Amino acid sequence: MKLADLYARPGLTLSVEFFPPKTDKGEENLFNEIEIIKRLNPAFCSVTYGAGGSTREKTVELVDRIHRECRLEVMCHLTVVGQSKDEARSILKKLKNKGIENIIALGGDPPQGMTDWQPHPDGFHYAVELVREAVALGGFSVAVAGFPEVHPRAVSRASDLNYVKDKVDAGAVAIITQLFFDNDDYYRYVDDLRKLGITVPIVPGVLPILSVPQVRRFTSLCCAKIPPQLEQQLARVENDDDAAVEVGIEYASRQCEALIKFGAPGLHFYSLNKSRSLQAICKNLCL
Ligand code: FAD
Repeated sequence: MKLADLYARPGLTLSVEFFPPKTDKGEENLFNEIEIIKRLNPAFCSVTYGAGGSTREKTVELVDRIHRECRLEVMCHLTVVGQSKDEARSILKKLKNKGIENIIALGGDPPQGMTDWQPHPDGFHYAVELVREAVALGGFSVAVAGFPEVHPRAVSRASDLNYVKDKVDAGAVAIITQLFFDNDDYYRYVDDLRKLGITVPIVPGVLPILSVPQVRRFTSLCCAKIPPQLEQQLARVENDDDAAVEVGIEYASRQCEALIKFGAPGLHFYSLNKSRSLQAICKNLCL
């Protein structure tokens, strides 16, 4: 089923993001976790495309395997960075031939170890171009990324919002946001995008924290802020991952509760391939 139809159904649309494991053992673990996560009735899952396009083939293989074996809708991440236009087109064709109907078209992170974002010499420059390609090829429902705290490379908040509008005008049917910990950023973002006439679902991306060093790394990479009250809680569990997981579950539960009350159309969980926190959060939310 396509994203547009999934988000058109009544109720909250849950989705869960995975990354391609590096080893066979990791992949086996992921498929075990998927079986547990399926009991939470997610509408779909998604598989990331490694930084710089590094997991290109692996991502497509994994998406295909989930699609064939798991009876779970799947959305493939696809990025502009690190590949030529022809390579991107060939991946789109491959996905279409495999019957994958949902993609999220992204600019992509630079390859590991590089901080500067450089387009491929023969590649697209922006996610909007990938949206246009996918729409022109046909058969896909396309999501795009949104940044409630403004994309780090954006010239201004206003330009960033307008470029999101370009992606929707090009045919994107949903916006999934970067992780954030202060819901006010999401509320303001939704408000601003609605004022631009954007009507598609704007789905909050939620990270259940699994460890303090990890959340510090993620937030510094994507320039998301850690609010003072969360910072205080994290400082107490700096070297204790089990305790950090509990803090993460509690924080994400309260965050999601408020997001649902606000009217968020869905919740997109950055699962980091783990089911434990998701199960606890869904239980807390009576989902
Ligand atoms: P774009 O829409 O291309 O925007 C990038 C920057 O360029 C922004 O600052 C924007 O304001 C500006 N811009 C956009 N269009 C134009 C234009 N026409 N002219 C001038 N400036 C413009 N990264 C990965 O590598 N792999 C993944 O699997 C992945 N999954 C993600 C999933 C989600 C839900 C999110 C929120 C992010 C994900 N990312 C992933 C990270 C994302 O790819 C990077 O943050 C990337 O730098 C921005 O992506 P974008 O799609 O918003 O790019």
